[in-house]
Amino acid sequence: DKLVQLEGVSKQFSKAQTAALKNITLNLERGKILALLGPSGCGKTTLLRSIAGFEQPDSGTISLADKPVASPNFYVPPEQRRVGMVFQEFALFPHLTVGENVAFGLKQKVKQPALIKAEVLDAIALVGLEGLQNRYPHELSGGQRQRVALARALAPRPVLMLLDEPLSNLDLQVRIYLRNEIRKILKATETTAIFVTHDREEALAISDVVGVMRDGHLEQLDTPEGVYQEPTSRFVAQFVTQANFLWAKRNGKLWETEVGCFEASTVSNLVGETGEVMIREEDLAIEPNDSGTATVRDRQFLGRENRYCLLTPSGQELHARTPVSASLPVGARVQLSVMPERLKIFSN
Ligand code: ADP
Ligand code: MG
Repeated sequence: DKLVQLEGVSKQFSKAQTAALKNITLNLERGKILALLGPSGCGKTTLLRSIAGFEQPDSGTISLADKPVASPNFYVPPEQRRVGMVFQEFALFPHLTVGENVAFGLKQKVKQPALIKAEVLDAIALVGLEGLQNRYPHELSGGQRQRVALARALAPRPVLMLLDEPLSNLDLQVRIYLRNEIRKILKATETTAIFVTHDREEALAISDVVGVMRDGHLEQLDTPEGVYQEPTSRFVAQFVTQANFLWAKRNGKLWETEVGCFEASTVSNLVGETGEVMIREEDLAIEPNDSGTATVRDRQFLGRENRYCLLTPSGQELHARTPVSASLPVGARVQLSVMPERLKIFSN
């Protein structure tokens, strides 16, 4: 059951050099949370605004709940799409209370004041702000303000929620707490959502599906595990995982690098005789060895694990994460290895 369907959506702004969206096709099932991940300027906001109805595509079709809402010659205005939006900047009315802010979106839909009041209190409770309905935005913390924005968007019961980097202006601790809350609330209300972020961990944690964007393209669309374990390009790998990339030359099943030979169990047909070996930081095993090929330059203690910075003979930095039990001193020489099935090779 597809709630959101995009078919070949492109968008070119008249003053821009290249298209903001290039032939984007994607389906999102009802009740699922899609995280859109990509660097600044890759088109995430333009994609959300096109789905909400604030931009019209130059080509392609957008459908919501099986009804077309936009194509180059057809256009349903935002207020008729039943889409809720939450933005990075808190975007609350400063002169209205929490309750009045939340009621704002409802007033166009519901006419009876008693009903509005009940729905407002419901929405405020849903986001965990009971008792704060008479406060003004300036009397709230950033995290609380973003909860109000969420309540305001949820109150009219949208078929789809669009969240554009809603946590980017918050402290790390609040951000982690709120992303879990948002996921809980979206799941409890069975709301389909698209959550834009440029934070890898946030994208993986909040979503059922991850879409990685690059220069207006949708580069990969997969489960969080899928994009992490089976990235289809170096770009996705670099964006979604914390990995080392080493130049390598093929020798049968082995890939020769400056720090030794690695065996790869699978290699894409696109890769030739040279390529780049990708080793996720947690997959790089290090053994103390006096004739080892790399040197420990630094060690960071991260609680559950150590993160080592290693130096190759040519001066490239590699990173490895290991359990803290096996601590190695700075200056130690180490031998590197990795399980063949964990190795990925990309063409260069
Ligand atoms: P993101 O949200 O991923 O940072 P945007 O969707 O905001 O990216 O922008 C994508 C590209 O489109 C950027 O190159 C940006 O400069 C351009 N762009 C966005 N909005 C407009 C506009 N109204 N007019 C011209 N160019 C725009
Ligand atoms: Mg943006």
